[in-house]
Amino acid sequence: MDLYEYQARDLFAAHGVPVLSGAVASDPDEARAVAAQLGGRAVIKAQVKTGGRGKAGGVKLANGPDDAGEKAEQILGMDIKGHTVGRVLVAEASEIAEEYYFSFLLDRANRTFLCIASAEGGVEIEEVARSNPEAVLKLPIDPLAGVDLDKGREIAARANYPEAAREAIAEVIVQLWEVFVAEDTTLVEVNPLVRDGQGRIIALDGKVTLDGNASFRHPEHAELADTASEDPLEAKAKANDLNYVKLDGQVGIIGNGAGLVMSTLDVVAYAGDRHSGVKPANFLDIGGGASAEVMAAGLDVILGDPDVRSVFVNVFGGITACDAVASGIVSALDMLGDGASKPLVVRLDGNNVAEGRRILTEADHPLVTLVETMDDAADKAAELAAAGV
Ligand code: GDP
Ligand code: MN
Repeated sequence: MDLYEYQARDLFAAHGVPVLSGAVASDPDEARAVAAQLGGRAVIKAQVKTGGRGKAGGVKLANGPDDAGEKAEQILGMDIKGHTVGRVLVAEASEIAEEYYFSFLLDRANRTFLCIASAEGGVEIEEVARSNPEAVLKLPIDPLAGVDLDKGREIAARANYPEAAREAIAEVIVQLWEVFVAEDTTLVEVNPLVRDGQGRIIALDGKVTLDGNASFRHPEHAELADTASEDPLEAKAKANDLNYVKLDGQVGIIGNGAGLVMSTLDVVAYAGDRHSGVKPANFLDIGGGASAEVMAAGLDVILGDPDVRSVFVNVFGGITACDAVASGIVSALDMLGDGASKPLVVRLDGNNVAEGRRILTEADHPLVTLVETMDDAADKAAELAAAGV
């Protein structure tokens, strides 16, 4: 989960990383009040989960409370790369002498942690890496050794930060590593990390990605979730512990096992080419134990998607055999009653398939079509979706 800048800033502050004081505001009056408390000049920053806010006009300096209110009014409601600004961060304005770049991240391809550091900050690091690759240090971090002050100094020197700033930056690097580890993140990025007029090092803009797989260790992170802008179907799926991702097609997909669901998306996309270009509407893996309750919860989420015209249930019976899955489908349809209104194409294979098919055939539900192979089932589901468009 990506955090808003103000949330990243709060985490930084909790771990001793130097940040400027400020608070978030959702209307011009609040912005004015925060600026009045700060006194002096303030910076007003759009809170959206995308970069390049500065370039888009989402970061403005204000000369006092009234100006802060006006700047907030200009920024609130602005559209930045498809994100509508609902809140602004009003912070003490910094007098910037120099801007640097620093980040820790999980480098999945190389199965390691990585630090990226550059004395050229403020602009996108990808841009610096293209135009001036020597200016960007990329250094793997040994997770067991971690980053102590000596390592921080080594990084600061190798990144070529100005000598006068190195010791202070090394300390901040150690604190950022503490944020990275203690909060279980996959990214901690500071751009720009600045040196101000008095020589202080400050994290002026922060981006943090929390590792969802570690959320069980961080009940306190739950309140950082942005439920307002979450997709309602994805929220409902999450509440039911389902692995669901909304896509923009018309054929709902339910399968057991991530690999099977991935290949189901492929065959449906392929079949869709023959049927008005319909596409998969979602990814949904109901996992190994496809009980009636889980099947009902999955169907409920998919049928709640107004774009869905047909549903393809693709199950390979393993520990949970096909007969149990078939019974699950029948009782799920009973549970949903009138809530189930779109055609279902079911393909079952694997453990106890004959009994599973018998159960579905016997139930003879008007919405269910049983198809033997995955390819034929994908074709049927695409055909039904195309007919319903
Ligand atoms: P981003 O464009 O979304 O990455 O937003 P940033 O928070 O990084 O701000 C973009 C740029 O605005 C920074 O690189 C700075 O040049 C400038 N900026 C941000 N905060 C301040 C501030 O407090 N004082 C000054 N003078 N400039 C700022
Ligand atoms: Mn930035």
